[in-house]
Amino acid sequence: MSETVYAWLIENGKDGEDIRYRGWAEGWPYWVKDPYKALWFVRREDAEAISAEDEDAWRIVEHGFEVEQPRCKNCGAAERDCTCCHGEAGW
Ligand SMILES: [Zn+2]
Repeated sequence: MSETVYAWLIENGKDGEDIRYRGWAEGWPYWVKDPYKALWFVRREDAEAISAEDEDAWRIVEHGFEVEQPRCKNCGAAERDCTCCHGEAGW
C-alpha cells in the first residue's frame, strides 16, 4: 500500500523543462534531476530559509510523492495502524 506524501522542493530551471531539485550529499548542496533524491521539506518556511541566499534557487513548489508505507513485520498492518505491538517489535 502506498500513500501520498507532500513536500516542498527547491527548484532550479531556466524554462521549466529541465528542472533540477536541491539535494544534499557529503555535506554539500547540489542539484539533482530525480525529485525522489531531493531534499523534502515539510514546511515551506524551511525551504525558503535554506535557499534565502541561493541565487540559483528560483522557486519553491509543493510536490506529491507516492511512497510505500512501512509495515509491521508481525501483523503486516501499516506502521501507524499496527495494534499488535505498537511499534515495540517487528520493525
Ligand atoms: Zn503489528
